[in-house]
Amino acid sequence: MKLTLLRGRIVRQDRVGDGALLLGDGVILDADFRGNTPEAAEVINVKESYILPAFTEIHAHGGGGHDFLDCTSEAFRGILDLHFAHGVTLLCPTLTACSWDKTMEFLTFCEDMKHHPCFGGVHLEGPFLSPEMSGAQNRACLLAPTDALADQLLEHKAIIRRITVAPELPGAEAFARKMSAAGIALSIGHSAADAETVRRAADWGFSQVTHLYCSTSQRFKRGSYIVGGIVEAALTEDSLTVELIGDGHHVCRESLLMTLCCKGAERVCIVSDAMRAAGCEDSLTESWLGERLPENRVIIEDGVAKLPDRSSFAGSLAAGDTMVAALCGRYRLPLVLISRMMSEVPARLLGLGASRGRIAPGCAADFVILDKQYHTTAVITAGEKVEVSYVR
Ligand SMILES: [Zn+2]
Repeated sequence: MKLTLLRGRIVRQDRVGDGALLLGDGVILDADFRGNTPEAAEVINVKESYILPAFTEIHAHGGGGHDFLDCTSEAFRGILDLHFAHGVTLLCPTLTACSWDKTMEFLTFCEDMKHHPCFGGVHLEGPFLSPEMSGAQNRACLLAPTDALADQLLEHKAIIRRITVAPELPGAEAFARKMSAAGIALSIGHSAADAETVRRAADWGFSQVTHLYCSTSQRFKRGSYIVGGIVEAALTEDSLTVELIGDGHHVCRESLLMTLCCKGAERVCIVSDAMRAAGCEDSLTESWLGERLPENRVIIEDGVAKLPDRSSFAGSLAAGDTMVAALCGRYRLPLVLISRMMSEVPARLLGLGASRGRIAPGCAADFVILDKQYHTTAVITAGEKVEVSYVR
């Protein structure tokens, strides 16, 4: 067995400190190695740099000029390479609402690409969304879930990991129960549901909320009464884990801190919601969310994508380490919490909690090495070091 001794500033679940990890056979053998260096071991010493479990990204549409809906192997590999260079070794290709035919084409395409080592299973963010809360999604493509559509999706159940659905849509309960029984995670999103509907949806199998505070309802007045929305229900229902977009633009610091107070880091998952323009030249001023269609055109401004009328954000330009920099710098969150929300929590949501996302014996020897500015300098995957150089 090839042994590797990895030394540096290790970011664990509860502390950051100098230490060493012994790796072998693609996993962590000793998570707090203190003995003499084994003779046969290769030593990787990253010195002052941080060693974190590699990031798992459960919500990303694109990057590097590509969108997964381009449905080409060049786009697929280009997006995964871009995110890899920012420390992501497992990613869920995420679909924006598009025609049903295109949805099926995307699923068939992902079946062909499923052996890529960074493929984490598909996330369908659409088309079962509320027109009222469509955000930047193409409203003309939204549908209510039906049994027939569910059956078509289940033909690809081996690669579908999660589906974002507005639970107030007609047919949502039957759809959710069917998907949940097939082992597919359900996430509430792009929805105007009230808190009561959210609580019922949790009984149907919904366990997550997609980008809380973005296209999610909040308390509102019904007659003279105040009624809770998704935000209030998500913050108070322990069974729900929430996504937050970590690019430093989509969520204000107060909402982020309020969420952490209510949920704890173990029920918050940081996602990028990265779109096509992530990782592109700073001079880029326009792009497309999803397919390259005139109606999907968006503008790039102030480091984020927006609808042309600036009424809504349209995905982020973030990827992996750039979110660490935003969350540490702008929001002043501790690195241990950020690491948990970007590695441990998403791995658990994908059912991989025992084998990924933590620095513990038996977990994957997948790490991201960050310098003091939180830039990725190398990625270690299955115990092998890959130097990373990416033009930002
Ligand atoms: Zn999205």
